Amino acid sequence: MAGDERLSENFPIIFDEKLNLPLWKDLRELKLRYNLPISSVRKFFEGLSDGVLYGTHCKKCGEKFFPPKPRCSTCGSRDVEWVEVSNVGRLLSYTVVNVKPESYQHHPDYVVGIAEADNGFKVLAWVKCENLDKLRIGMQVKIEIGKHERENTLLYYIVPET
Ligand SMILES: [Zn+2]
Repeated sequence: MAGDERLSENFPIIFDEKLNLPLWKDLRELKLRYNLPISSVRKFFEGLSDGVLYGTHCKKCGEKFFPPKPRCSTCGSRDVEWVEVSNVGRLLSYTVVNVKPESYQHHPDYVVGIAEADNGFKVLAWVKCENLDKLRIGMQVKIEIGKHERENTLLYYIVPET
């Protein structure tokens, strides 16, 4: 657009062709590091350490949450109970992530999917998969707990049954 060059000379303004808009490009990098309280979901982390996945189930409306929530976001009730999430289920959906968020730029492309555990919990997780051609919606999967190699934390993965 006329005048964009003049703006770009005097300011960190770039023209984004996709959006068809001039954008202010911040010169400072914003780094965020969260410290989140975990006391209300501590059992989730303890469960992972023991090799068990826990979700929460609302005793009032029946909604199931994974990751667990200490309060039901459907009806607002705090009357929730911890429930073990079945480690077998079916693959509901998946996608290959090749446009990664800033914090995962160092990772090779990866697959993220949603599995529905046999007892109804929906688990969003990385899919351990060597061959994309073998992935099928509805296929039997396991939900396994393992170490995230680069970050050295426990994580849960969707693993297709072979
Ligand atoms: Zn509820």
